[in-house]
Amino acid sequence: MKNTILYIVVPCYNEKDVLSLTAKVLKEKMTALIDSEKIHNASKVLFVNDGSKDNTWEIIKQLHKDNQVFTGISLSRNRGHQNALLAGLLTAKQYADIVISMDADMQDDIDVIDKFIEEYEKGYDVVYGVRNSRKTDTAFKKYTALMFYRLMQWLGAETIYNHADYRLMSKRALEGLAEFKEVNLFLRGLVPMVGYTHSIVEYARGERKAGESKYPLKKMIAFAIDGITSLSIKPITLITKLGLIIFLLSLIALVWVLIVKFTDRAETGWSSILVSIWLLGGLQLFAIGVIGEYIGKIYKETKQRPRYIIAENLIEQANKEN
Ligand code: UDP
Ligand code: MG
Repeated sequence: MKNTILYIVVPCYNEKDVLSLTAKVLKEKMTALIDSEKIHNASKVLFVNDGSKDNTWEIIKQLHKDNQVFTGISLSRNRGHQNALLAGLLTAKQYADIVISMDADMQDDIDVIDKFIEEYEKGYDVVYGVRNSRKTDTAFKKYTALMFYRLMQWLGAETIYNHADYRLMSKRALEGLAEFKEVNLFLRGLVPMVGYTHSIVEYARGERKAGESKYPLKKMIAFAIDGITSLSIKPITLITKLGLIIFLLSLIALVWVLIVKFTDRAETGWSSILVSIWLLGGLQLFAIGVIGEYIGKIYKETKQRPRYIIAENLIEQANKEN
Protein backbone atom coordinates (compact mmCIF):
# COMPACT_ATOMS: atom_id res chain seq x y z
CA MET A 1 0.00 0.00 0.00
CA LYS A 2 3.02 2.28 -0.28
CA ASN A 3 1.32 4.07 -3.17
CA THR A 4 -1.30 5.62 -0.93
CA ILE A 5 -0.74 9.32 -0.44
CA LEU A 6 -1.88 10.45 3.00
CA TYR A 7 -2.55 14.05 4.02
CA ILE A 8 -3.10 14.90 7.66
CA VAL A 9 -5.16 18.09 7.96
CA VAL A 10 -4.70 20.15 11.10
CA PRO A 11 -6.70 23.37 11.63
CA CYS A 12 -4.80 25.88 13.76
CA TYR A 13 -6.06 29.00 15.45
CA ASN A 14 -3.57 30.78 17.70
CA GLU A 15 -1.65 27.56 18.32
CA LYS A 16 1.90 28.92 18.66
CA ASP A 17 2.32 27.25 22.06
CA VAL A 18 1.64 23.74 20.89
CA LEU A 19 2.60 23.77 17.22
CA SER A 20 6.27 22.81 17.45
CA LEU A 21 5.45 19.85 19.67
CA THR A 22 2.64 18.80 17.33
CA ALA A 23 4.94 19.11 14.33
CA LYS A 24 7.62 17.00 16.00
CA VAL A 25 5.19 14.20 16.88
CA LEU A 26 3.57 14.25 13.45
CA LYS A 27 6.92 14.21 11.68
CA GLU A 28 7.98 11.11 13.59
CA LYS A 29 4.70 9.43 12.75
CA MET A 30 4.94 10.31 9.06
CA THR A 31 8.54 9.13 8.86
CA ALA A 32 7.63 5.83 10.50
CA LEU A 33 4.69 5.31 8.15
CA ILE A 34 6.78 6.12 5.07
CA ASP A 35 9.69 3.95 6.20
CA SER A 36 7.44 0.97 6.85
CA GLU A 37 5.99 1.52 3.36
CA LYS A 38 2.47 2.03 4.62
CA ILE A 39 2.14 5.31 2.75
CA HIS A 40 3.73 7.06 -0.23
CA ASN A 41 6.63 9.38 0.47
CA ALA A 42 4.75 12.32 -1.06
CA SER A 43 2.42 12.24 1.97
CA LYS A 44 2.17 15.45 3.95
CA VAL A 45 0.91 17.23 7.02
CA LEU A 46 -1.31 20.14 5.93
CA PHE A 47 -1.70 22.88 8.52
CA VAL A 48 -4.60 25.26 8.00
CA ASN A 49 -4.00 28.64 9.55
CA ASP A 50 -7.45 29.92 10.48
CA GLY A 51 -6.64 33.63 10.60
CA SER A 52 -4.52 33.33 13.75
CA LYS A 53 -3.62 36.52 15.55
CA ASP A 54 -0.32 35.15 16.84
CA ASN A 55 2.62 33.94 14.73
CA THR A 56 1.11 30.53 13.94
CA TRP A 57 1.41 31.11 10.19
CA GLU A 58 5.08 32.12 10.45
CA ILE A 59 5.75 28.91 12.38
CA ILE A 60 3.97 26.86 9.69
CA LYS A 61 5.98 28.51 6.92
CA GLN A 62 9.21 27.82 8.79
CA LEU A 63 8.24 24.16 9.30
CA HIS A 64 7.54 23.90 5.58
CA LYS A 65 10.91 25.44 4.73
CA ASP A 66 12.77 23.04 7.02
CA ASN A 67 10.96 19.90 5.97
CA GLN A 68 8.91 19.08 2.88
CA VAL A 69 6.63 16.81 4.89
CA PHE A 70 4.96 19.95 6.21
CA THR A 71 2.82 22.22 4.13
CA GLY A 72 0.08 24.72 4.78
CA ILE A 73 -2.67 26.99 3.62
CA SER A 74 -3.68 30.23 5.25
CA LEU A 75 -7.25 31.53 5.28
CA SER A 76 -7.91 35.20 4.66
CA ARG A 77 -9.37 35.56 8.17
CA ASN A 78 -10.69 33.53 11.10
CA ARG A 79 -13.63 31.41 9.88
CA GLY A 80 -13.98 28.97 12.76
CA HIS A 81 -12.92 25.37 13.25
CA GLN A 82 -15.43 23.72 10.89
CA ASN A 83 -14.75 26.02 7.96
CA ALA A 84 -11.00 25.78 8.46
CA LEU A 85 -11.26 22.02 8.53
CA LEU A 86 -13.34 21.97 5.36
CA ALA A 87 -10.82 24.24 3.61
CA GLY A 88 -8.07 21.79 4.55
CA LEU A 89 -10.05 18.69 3.53
CA LEU A 90 -11.06 20.05 0.15
CA THR A 91 -7.53 21.28 -0.55
CA ALA A 92 -5.93 17.99 0.52
CA LYS A 93 -8.40 16.03 -1.63
CA GLN A 94 -6.69 17.34 -4.77
CA TYR A 95 -3.37 15.74 -3.85
CA ALA A 96 -4.13 12.81 -1.56
CA ASP A 97 -5.76 9.39 -1.69
CA ILE A 98 -6.72 9.47 1.98
CA VAL A 99 -7.05 12.38 4.40
CA ILE A 100 -7.02 12.29 8.19
CA SER A 101 -8.25 15.30 10.15
CA MET A 102 -7.10 16.06 13.68
CA ASP A 103 -6.81 18.97 16.13
CA ALA A 104 -3.58 20.83 16.68
CA ASP A 105 -3.47 20.22 20.43
CA MET A 106 -2.53 16.51 20.32
CA GLN A 107 -5.54 15.47 22.40
CA ASP A 108 -6.17 12.64 19.99
CA ASP A 109 -3.98 9.57 20.24
CA ILE A 110 -1.63 9.74 17.27
CA ASP A 111 -0.98 5.98 17.15
CA VAL A 112 -4.57 5.47 16.09
CA ILE A 113 -3.48 6.65 12.63
CA ASP A 114 -2.00 3.19 11.93
CA LYS A 115 -5.34 1.62 12.74
CA PHE A 116 -7.15 4.16 10.56
CA ILE A 117 -4.97 3.14 7.62
CA GLU A 118 -5.51 -0.56 8.34
CA GLU A 119 -9.26 -0.05 8.27
CA TYR A 120 -8.97 1.88 5.02
CA GLU A 121 -7.01 -1.01 3.53
CA LYS A 122 -9.83 -3.35 4.53
CA GLY A 123 -12.01 -1.31 2.22
CA TYR A 124 -13.71 1.28 4.41
CA ASP A 125 -14.10 4.78 2.97
CA VAL A 126 -14.63 6.56 6.27
CA VAL A 127 -13.02 5.63 9.59
CA TYR A 128 -14.23 7.44 12.72
CA GLY A 129 -12.06 7.90 15.78
CA VAL A 130 -14.27 7.41 18.82
CA ARG A 131 -13.28 8.33 22.37
CA ASN A 132 -13.75 5.43 24.73
CA SER A 133 -13.05 7.49 27.82
CA ARG A 134 -13.30 11.12 28.75
CA LYS A 135 -11.15 10.84 31.81
CA THR A 136 -9.40 14.11 31.13
CA ASP A 137 -12.56 16.12 30.50
CA THR A 138 -14.33 17.89 33.33
CA ALA A 139 -17.51 16.25 34.64
CA PHE A 140 -19.42 19.21 33.21
CA LYS A 141 -18.03 18.77 29.68
CA LYS A 142 -18.60 15.02 29.85
CA TYR A 143 -22.20 15.41 30.92
CA THR A 144 -23.12 18.19 28.49
CA ALA A 145 -21.51 16.27 25.63
CA LEU A 146 -23.51 13.14 26.51
CA MET A 147 -26.74 15.13 26.63
CA PHE A 148 -25.91 16.67 23.27
CA TYR A 149 -25.42 13.30 21.55
CA ARG A 150 -28.62 11.96 23.11
CA LEU A 151 -30.53 15.02 21.96
CA MET A 152 -29.15 14.75 18.43
CA GLN A 153 -30.16 11.12 18.27
CA TRP A 154 -33.64 11.88 19.51
CA LEU A 155 -33.98 14.67 16.95
CA GLY A 156 -33.17 12.19 14.23
CA ALA A 157 -29.81 13.56 13.13
CA GLU A 158 -27.27 10.84 12.55
CA THR A 159 -24.02 11.45 14.40
CA ILE A 160 -21.42 9.02 15.70
CA TYR A 161 -21.43 8.91 19.49
CA ASN A 162 -18.30 10.43 21.08
CA HIS A 163 -16.72 11.14 17.74
CA ALA A 164 -15.07 14.52 17.31
CA ASP A 165 -13.41 15.48 14.06
CA TYR A 166 -10.66 12.85 14.22
CA ARG A 167 -11.31 10.66 11.20
CA LEU A 168 -10.01 9.24 7.96
CA MET A 169 -11.78 9.85 4.67
CA SER A 170 -11.00 8.42 1.26
CA LYS A 171 -10.77 10.59 -1.82
CA ARG A 172 -14.20 9.56 -3.06
CA ALA A 173 -15.79 10.21 0.33
CA LEU A 174 -14.28 13.70 0.23
CA GLU A 175 -15.57 14.19 -3.28
CA GLY A 176 -18.99 13.33 -1.89
CA LEU A 177 -18.53 15.82 0.92
CA ALA A 178 -17.58 18.52 -1.58
CA GLU A 179 -21.04 18.16 -3.12
CA PHE A 180 -22.64 19.45 0.09
CA LYS A 181 -22.70 23.17 -0.50
CA GLU A 182 -24.20 24.33 2.79
CA VAL A 183 -22.78 27.32 4.59
CA ASN A 184 -23.93 26.17 8.04
CA LEU A 185 -21.29 23.55 8.52
CA PHE A 186 -21.52 20.70 10.99
CA LEU A 187 -19.11 18.16 9.55
CA ARG A 188 -19.87 15.48 12.14
CA GLY A 189 -23.42 15.38 10.85
CA LEU A 190 -22.54 15.71 7.18
CA VAL A 191 -19.97 12.95 6.88
CA PRO A 192 -22.46 10.18 7.79
CA MET A 193 -24.76 11.62 5.11
CA VAL A 194 -22.07 11.17 2.47
CA GLY A 195 -22.51 7.45 2.96
CA TYR A 196 -20.11 4.67 1.82
CA THR A 197 -19.00 2.01 4.27
CA HIS A 198 -17.52 3.15 7.56
CA SER A 199 -15.63 1.70 10.44
CA ILE A 200 -14.85 2.84 13.98
CA VAL A 201 -11.59 2.87 15.91
CA GLU A 202 -11.65 3.54 19.65
CA TYR A 203 -9.01 5.50 21.50
CA ALA A 204 -8.44 7.33 24.76
CA ARG A 205 -8.45 11.09 24.45
CA GLY A 206 -5.77 12.92 26.39
CA GLU A 207 -5.38 16.47 27.56
CA ARG A 208 -4.49 19.48 25.44
CA LYS A 209 -0.70 19.56 25.41
CA ALA A 210 -0.28 23.35 25.48
CA GLY A 211 -2.19 26.56 24.90
CA GLU A 212 -5.85 27.06 25.79
CA SER A 213 -9.08 25.56 24.51
CA LYS A 214 -10.60 27.57 21.68
CA TYR A 215 -14.02 26.27 22.62
CA PRO A 216 -15.29 28.13 25.67
CA LEU A 217 -18.81 27.32 26.90
CA LYS A 218 -20.38 30.07 24.80
CA LYS A 219 -18.91 28.66 21.58
CA MET A 220 -19.83 25.13 22.65
CA ILE A 221 -23.49 26.07 23.05
CA ALA A 222 -23.49 27.93 19.73
CA PHE A 223 -21.92 24.86 18.11
CA ALA A 224 -24.58 22.57 19.60
CA ILE A 225 -27.45 24.81 18.45
CA ASP A 226 -25.85 25.02 15.03
CA GLY A 227 -25.56 21.26 14.88
CA ILE A 228 -29.18 20.72 15.79
CA THR A 229 -30.69 23.37 13.54
CA SER A 230 -28.62 22.48 10.52
CA LEU A 231 -29.41 18.76 10.72
CA SER A 232 -32.95 18.53 12.02
CA ILE A 233 -36.25 20.37 11.64
CA LYS A 234 -37.81 18.42 14.47
CA PRO A 235 -37.82 21.44 16.85
CA ILE A 236 -40.27 23.20 14.52
CA THR A 237 -42.50 20.12 14.40
CA LEU A 238 -42.39 19.92 18.19
CA ILE A 239 -43.49 23.51 18.51
CA THR A 240 -46.39 22.92 16.15
CA LYS A 241 -47.47 19.95 18.26
CA LEU A 242 -47.08 21.94 21.46
CA GLY A 243 -49.20 24.72 19.99
CA LEU A 244 -51.89 22.21 19.07
CA ILE A 245 -51.93 20.70 22.55
CA ILE A 246 -52.21 24.12 24.17
CA PHE A 247 -55.02 25.02 21.79
CA LEU A 248 -56.92 21.90 22.80
CA LEU A 249 -56.32 22.63 26.47
CA SER A 250 -57.61 26.15 26.02
CA LEU A 251 -60.84 24.73 24.52
CA ILE A 252 -61.32 22.69 27.69
CA ALA A 253 -60.56 25.79 29.74
CA LEU A 254 -63.15 27.70 27.74
CA VAL A 255 -65.82 25.18 28.66
CA TRP A 256 -64.77 25.42 32.29
CA VAL A 257 -64.93 29.24 32.19
CA LEU A 258 -68.42 29.15 30.75
CA ILE A 259 -69.58 26.71 33.40
CA VAL A 260 -68.17 28.92 36.15
CA LYS A 261 -69.77 31.99 34.61
CA PHE A 262 -73.22 30.48 34.31
CA THR A 263 -73.16 29.00 37.79
CA ASP A 264 -72.45 32.49 39.16
CA ARG A 265 -69.09 31.69 40.73
CA ALA A 266 -66.99 34.26 38.81
CA GLU A 267 -64.30 36.57 40.25
CA THR A 268 -61.93 33.72 40.84
CA GLY A 269 -60.16 34.41 37.54
CA TRP A 270 -57.23 36.60 38.51
CA SER A 271 -54.54 34.01 39.19
CA SER A 272 -55.43 31.77 36.29
CA ILE A 273 -55.32 34.72 33.86
CA LEU A 274 -51.94 35.79 35.14
CA VAL A 275 -50.50 32.30 34.89
CA SER A 276 -51.75 31.77 31.38
CA ILE A 277 -50.42 35.13 30.18
CA TRP A 278 -46.94 34.30 31.39
CA LEU A 279 -47.06 30.74 30.15
CA LEU A 280 -48.35 31.57 26.71
CA GLY A 281 -46.15 34.63 26.37
CA GLY A 282 -43.08 32.55 27.19
CA LEU A 283 -44.06 29.76 24.85
CA GLN A 284 -44.73 32.16 22.01
CA LEU A 285 -41.41 33.90 22.41
CA PHE A 286 -39.63 30.55 22.49
CA ALA A 287 -41.47 29.39 19.40
CA ILE A 288 -40.67 32.55 17.49
CA GLY A 289 -37.06 32.20 18.56
CA VAL A 290 -36.77 28.66 17.22
CA ILE A 291 -38.38 29.59 13.94
CA GLY A 292 -36.09 32.61 13.78
CA GLU A 293 -33.07 30.30 14.06
CA TYR A 294 -34.18 28.48 10.95
CA ILE A 295 -34.99 31.64 9.04
CA GLY A 296 -31.54 32.91 9.94
CA LYS A 297 -30.07 29.72 8.49
CA ILE A 298 -32.09 30.08 5.30
CA TYR A 299 -30.93 33.68 5.04
CA LYS A 300 -27.31 32.63 5.31
CA GLU A 301 -27.69 29.80 2.80
CA THR A 302 -29.42 31.94 0.18
CA LYS A 303 -26.55 34.40 0.16
CA GLN A 304 -24.22 31.64 -1.01
CA ARG A 305 -21.19 33.32 0.44
CA PRO A 306 -17.89 31.45 0.18
CA ARG A 307 -17.22 29.26 3.19
CA TYR A 308 -13.55 30.21 3.22
CA ILE A 309 -11.03 32.09 1.14
CA ILE A 310 -7.49 30.80 0.85
CA ALA A 311 -5.00 33.65 1.03
CA GLU A 312 -1.79 31.62 0.73
CA ASN A 313 -1.18 28.07 -0.41
CA LEU A 314 2.25 26.57 0.25
CA ILE A 315 1.49 23.45 -1.81
CA GLU A 316 0.95 25.50 -4.96
CA GLN A 317 3.92 27.71 -4.24
CA ALA A 318 6.13 24.64 -3.90
CA ASN A 319 4.73 23.13 -7.10
CA LYS A 320 5.50 26.32 -9.01
CA GLU A 321 9.05 26.44 -7.76
CA ASN A 322 9.74 22.87 -8.94
N1 UDP B 1 -9.70 26.05 15.77
C1 UDP B 1 -9.74 26.72 14.54
N2 UDP B 1 -10.47 27.88 14.44
C2 UDP B 1 -11.17 28.40 15.51
C3 UDP B 1 -11.14 27.69 16.74
C4 UDP B 1 -10.41 26.51 16.84
O1 UDP B 1 -9.14 26.29 13.56
O2 UDP B 1 -11.78 29.46 15.35
C5 UDP B 1 -8.92 24.79 15.87
C6 UDP B 1 -7.91 24.74 17.01
O3 UDP B 1 -6.69 25.33 16.63
C7 UDP B 1 -7.78 23.25 17.27
C8 UDP B 1 -9.17 22.72 16.93
O4 UDP B 1 -9.81 23.74 16.16
O5 UDP B 1 -6.85 22.64 16.39
C9 UDP B 1 -10.00 22.38 18.16
O6 UDP B 1 -9.96 23.43 19.10
P1 UDP B 1 -9.72 23.17 20.65
O7 UDP B 1 -8.71 22.09 20.85
O8 UDP B 1 -9.39 24.49 21.28
O9 UDP B 1 -11.16 22.68 21.12
P2 UDP B 1 -11.51 21.66 22.34
O10 UDP B 1 -10.65 20.43 22.14
O11 UDP B 1 -11.18 22.38 23.59
O12 UDP B 1 -12.96 21.37 22.16
MG1 MG C 1 -8.73 20.36 21.95
